[in-house]
Amino acid sequence: MSATTSAPAGAATDRPSIAVENPATGEVIGHVPDMTAEVPSLVARARAAQSGWAARPIAARAELMHALRRWRDADRARIVASTIAETGKTYEDAIMNEVFAFADALAYWAKRGEGHLRDERVRPSGPLVLGRRFVVRRRPLGVVGVIAPWNYPVTLGLGDSIPALVAGNAVVLKPSEITPLTTDLVVRGFREAGLPEELLLVATGRGDTGAALVDHVDMVMFTGSTPTGRKVAARAAERLIPVSLELGGKDPMIVLADADLDRAANAAATWGLLNSGQICMSVERIYVEEPVHDAFVDELVAAVGRARSRGAHVPRPGDADVGSMTFPPQVDIVERHVADARERGARIHTGGRRGDGPGLWYEPTVLTGVDHDMLCMREETFGPTLPVMKVRDADEAVRLANDTTYGLASSVFTKDLAKGEAIARRIHAGSTAVNDALLQFLGRNAPFGGAKDSGVGARHGAEGIRKYTEPQTIMVSRLGLKRDIGWFPNSPRVSRLLERGLAAYYGR
Ligand code: NAD
Repeated sequence: MSATTSAPAGAATDRPSIAVENPATGEVIGHVPDMTAEVPSLVARARAAQSGWAARPIAARAELMHALRRWRDADRARIVASTIAETGKTYEDAIMNEVFAFADALAYWAKRGEGHLRDERVRPSGPLVLGRRFVVRRRPLGVVGVIAPWNYPVTLGLGDSIPALVAGNAVVLKPSEITPLTTDLVVRGFREAGLPEELLLVATGRGDTGAALVDHVDMVMFTGSTPTGRKVAARAAERLIPVSLELGGKDPMIVLADADLDRAANAAATWGLLNSGQICMSVERIYVEEPVHDAFVDELVAAVGRARSRGAHVPRPGDADVGSMTFPPQVDIVERHVADARERGARIHTGGRRGDGPGLWYEPTVLTGVDHDMLCMREETFGPTLPVMKVRDADEAVRLANDTTYGLASSVFTKDLAKGEAIARRIHAGSTAVNDALLQFLGRNAPFGGAKDSGVGARHGAEGIRKYTEPQTIMVSRLGLKRDIGWFPNSPRVSRLLERGLAAYYGR
């Protein structure tokens, strides 16, 4: 991809610019403006357009999402190339988890959004509201600020914007300063495909731009690290606006003695190393029951050995498994965690060092002999490391899996599916997979979110779109009396009758 200066449509031209690099090569591939100063006017423009959009029937809004999906299909190759260039992903990661996962989001919200937001007729709950009819309707919040991280710019930033739009909001999207180019490419394409420009505006910039957005929008959908999420939540609390937070993770995998070790090892290698481990729900730590620990480690080292990193060339289908890292400070964190484990006595079976040459590479790494005093078991690594810890039994595995401030995803491997599900229920996390990992993210009918410090709220399912609305309850009185029982003036006789009737009802 050649270097470009991308100025989101309508942006002023005299602002400081931010260089964007290809992390696999270190080459500068584009620049975007710092739009912090324009955030208030972007939000005002979005707000002006929102009421007309909300007035359109939801079926029409959904139909537009189908049109956008067709554009995305036509421009698949450009989106893949751009994503790879700014993130360092492999071809398969870009096509499956950015392009097709995003197509899945467009299809899901276009098809199911209306059902999740339909007016609900609610039966009166008791005699105190007898004769009234209740309808709950969902009203869009106005302008939603979507703030995104750098690891999946399309699936996360744009993916979270789609339900907000279907629900009748306008969106101002702030992509990560590390990976803003594909977002801009897709948004421009959407405009060509018929999305009114002001409904989805892009504010490029760093943390200050995100903070300015939180100061002006009506709701914030934030995905990123837990420390930044706390700042966003604190400011949103001051402004009394709703916020949905998808934050960091330290996801455990438990391998029981009766597991299919081949499957467990291949799953750990795939879902721990995909995108170089830079996924919020990557397998970050593995607990293995003692009798199968050594056999599992052998399988894991073999599986990791089969995973190929790519060099600094343009990736094609099937030529690599593990991409480069994306964010320079992240490589330092991985180095710190591995060095800490090594100093405290862990064994490194494979990997354990920064890759050679330009670009941000770190070797896929398997560590054993680790414990919960080590950084690699306590802090989010967000890198291609797989620390494995031996445990006595399933109880110890569950205790250690829960010994974390995080609670995003988790997994259990066992051939006994009932036992797997029972153990899943004991793990305090937003989601748990049995004999699988990560793919629950794509089960869009089910909520996906984090427990504990991994987040507040959820994406996907009914929660994933209702959060972009506020309920309005409409109560219609059907009795048509001049004066209802219990209205002023009070009378001793009516009060006594009412009291007796209600006491009989509630005393049942
Ligand atoms: P980050 O918190 O550094 O940045 C996220 C976004 O917030 C960026 O766009 C950044 O510019 C912006 N930002 C920074 N300071 C801000 C402020 N004060 N106010 C508002 N916005 C601000 O995170 P990152 O390094 O981009 O992403 C990696 C983190 O994201 C990891 O912790 C990872 O686990 C997490 N993540 C979570 C999920 C999930 O679904 N739970 C998904 C992907 C990534």
